Amino acid sequence: NASEAAVCVGLDHELNDQQKRELRSGLEQLMPWRKGPFNVFGTVIDAEWRSDLKWQRLMQFIQPLNGRRVLDVGCGNGYYAMRMCAAGARWVLGIDPSMLAMTQFTAVSQCLRSPLPVTQLPIGAEQLPMNLACFDTVFSMGVLYHRRSPFEHLERLRSMLTRGGELVLETLVIPGAEGEVLVPSERYAQMRNVWLIPSVAELLCWLKRVGFSSVRCVSEADTTLVEQRSTEWMRFHSLAQFLNPQNARLTVEGYPAPRRAIVTASYQN
Ligand code: SAH
Repeated sequence: NASEAAVCVGLDHELNDQQKRELRSGLEQLMPWRKGPFNVFGTVIDAEWRSDLKWQRLMQFIQPLNGRRVLDVGCGNGYYAMRMCAAGARWVLGIDPSMLAMTQFTAVSQCLRSPLPVTQLPIGAEQLPMNLACFDTVFSMGVLYHRRSPFEHLERLRSMLTRGGELVLETLVIPGAEGEVLVPSERYAQMRNVWLIPSVAELLCWLKRVGFSSVRCVSEADTTLVEQRSTEWMRFHSLAQFLNPQNARLTVEGYPAPRRAIVTASYQN
């Protein structure tokens, strides 16, 4: 359930009823909460996404984060940055152009007794300098299909890694063979900003083409109505309304329903 899956903040401190009401109303002003859940002084923010499920899918397959410098591209409200710290990361740089997501992260992290080794910047990947070559692990989750130029994005991610560093890439995929890519004519699952959705086999080719090695798909899963749904913290339409009511294997536009892959790859120089 959502409260066990939550990133917890401030649980060692009791708030009085007045403080609880004020905290809740402050957090409600930052709606919609897309990623979570969080538990902030006992208030559970049940976000649209059960982000813990993705974390569970990838955790066992990635290089342990202990002592590593991590870049999280498209970090959203920092749910995963906080998980990465809990998993031992030395430092996490999270970047995301969404000011609302950044503000949510600031709100949650200010409730911590001691600060986490997380730095957040309100910028997109394309605003990072190329060739920083200083991160041991780079995450890009839920971003690639929003980019018009996936190769530019992948090359940029590669240029952020130290020698032997690991990329953890999560993105939408379609069923299909090498060479197959979906370019939605307008919207995909109601999203306007989706450009390219490759098959897993094609995605692996893209990664090799830009110089990654040990490229491996570690997880492939249909997005379920447990993982993505409307809640009282995200009251707009969600996956249930984005699927074809007659056939849940298709989106309302008639494309294959959302399916996501997690790929790990290393950069050896
Ligand atoms: N990584 C999180 C969030 C995915 S949602 C997860 O896996 O759940 C996609 C996020 O990417 C949004 O927060 C959006 O603001 C951000 N984003 C969109 N374009 C981006 C870009 N060019 N660079 C970095 N982040 C971007």
